[in-house]
Amino acid sequence: VDVVIVGAGFSGTMLAVHLARETRVPASVTVVERTGRFGAGVAYSTPFASHLLNVPAARMSAFPDDPGHFARWAMAGDPAARPEAFLPRQLYSAYLGHLLDEASAHAGNGSRVRRLDAEVVAVAPAAGGWQVACADGHTLRADVVVLAIGNYPPADPPCATPGFYDSALYRQDPWAADALTVEADQDVLLVGTGLTMVDVAIALDEQGHRGTLTCVSRRGLLPQWLREPGNARELPPPSFADGGRTARGLLRAVRRAVADREASGGTWREVLGSLRSVTPSLWTSLPEAERRRFLRHLRPYWDTHRHGAAPAIGRAIDRLRDGGRLRVRAGRILRYDVSGSVALATVRERGSTRTSVVRAHRVINCTGPDADLRRVTSPLVRDLRDRGMMRPDPLGIGIVTDASGRVVDGSGAPQAGLYLAGPLRRGESWEHIAVPELREGAARLARHLVAAMVGTPSS
Ligand SMILES: Cc1cc2nc3c(=O)[nH]c(=O)nc-3n(C[C@H](O)[C@H](O)[C@H](O)COP(=O)(O)OP(=O)(O)OC[C@H]3O[C@@H](n4cnc5c(N)ncnc54)[C@H](O)[C@@H]3O)c2cc1C
Repeated sequence: VDVVIVGAGFSGTMLAVHLARETRVPASVTVVERTGRFGAGVAYSTPFASHLLNVPAARMSAFPDDPGHFARWAMAGDPAARPEAFLPRQLYSAYLGHLLDEASAHAGNGSRVRRLDAEVVAVAPAAGGWQVACADGHTLRADVVVLAIGNYPPADPPCATPGFYDSALYRQDPWAADALTVEADQDVLLVGTGLTMVDVAIALDEQGHRGTLTCVSRRGLLPQWLREPGNARELPPPSFADGGRTARGLLRAVRRAVADREASGGTWREVLGSLRSVTPSLWTSLPEAERRRFLRHLRPYWDTHRHGAAPAIGRAIDRLRDGGRLRVRAGRILRYDVSGSVALATVRERGSTRTSVVRAHRVINCTGPDADLRRVTSPLVRDLRDRGMMRPDPLGIGIVTDASGRVVDGSGAPQAGLYLAGPLRRGESWEHIAVPELREGAARLARHLVAAMVGTPSS
């Protein structure tokens, strides 16, 4: 059976690893990655040593049935590494690379795993399977194709002067190799105040930048700084009996649970932690209009509380703020003008009609990965969309699939042999974005494919 996996971030890599270990028929698994870096993806290909995982090592195992796997691997290489530590993201890509090497060396049942350094630009049905076309002219035949295409760069926020986004002063993709090329003393405007902004600020600091960083988002909310694990207790989730069908009802129930918990000496973190097991069912029971409401009004609060940054990162950001080098503003960027080598951003403050101008030598979009597949312009996404081979999630958070992960086409029918893995499946369960959930998703999809390969190869 020929399997082509498009993308070698966490999801594509772990799918290949599971297939190599678990296949019951000879399988040829080809992992195609456009960056030439296998086992890294956007999250773990950072060149900055100061970028840390935002989940403790003890919870970053790639295998759901062996939770201590990553921590043991890290400690074998460095006895000083601790399970409760927030380790460097670079180390995590070494871990994934190691797992892929092992899978290639020991694939079972006469199977093989190979890597192809290429960008997939089209996937089309071909006699009894699929034809996968790459930008370099390469084509592959496959019985099964899995799109593990992950995180796309941020979208340009709407403003009155979109022509500015073509300017050399602007960087749309904060993860691109040239995104952070600024002079040490230049001032930078970071659009967004979440984890991507934090990453960029930490990276600029590591590379010796000494100018001012002004960070603007609608609400000016920074991520919460995580605490070392150990002091939080596992709680049962709160009761949503009387409010689980509306965004407002959910908010009320969570607030009540937090107040109760705090009254008895606990913390909001314990309550948020307890939601993990029930989030998928709460999400699926919300009507679409309420999901939309949640995304519009509550998402910034959810994101900043659910996805925090490592304690050391929090201390570094606090130091930059205390030293006056990093400023956070709540407001909306209305327009950009350019004066020589300086961008002038007009910001309207939140809750006010007052505007002010931020001057910066560089503007970097830090609004986070764009999961709105109605507008993503990657050649593969455009091709699938234009030919009606996928249906973007109506809420702009991924691609619609059926329960097994098969990509649903424009007419609503799941396509045999064409699957999706990774955070673009978020529309199904909401919490499908970080390793603790993605590893379950990769293992589950692998089990499904292994079973399907024994039965009918292309279903
Ligand atoms: C900056 C950042 C930091 C993060 N840190 C953490 C963390 O510390 N802990 C945690 O649990 N989660 C973290 N996450 C969440 C992250 O989404 C997941 O952990 C995970 O890395 C997602 O992996 P993925 O393989 O699904 O997607 P990605 O990592 O985005 O990988 C997708 C891959 O597909 C490739 N690709 C896409 N299109 C094509 C194509 N047409 N042809 C060939 N290749 C293609 C891309 O080049 C990329 O390598 C982070 C996310 C980001 C963006």
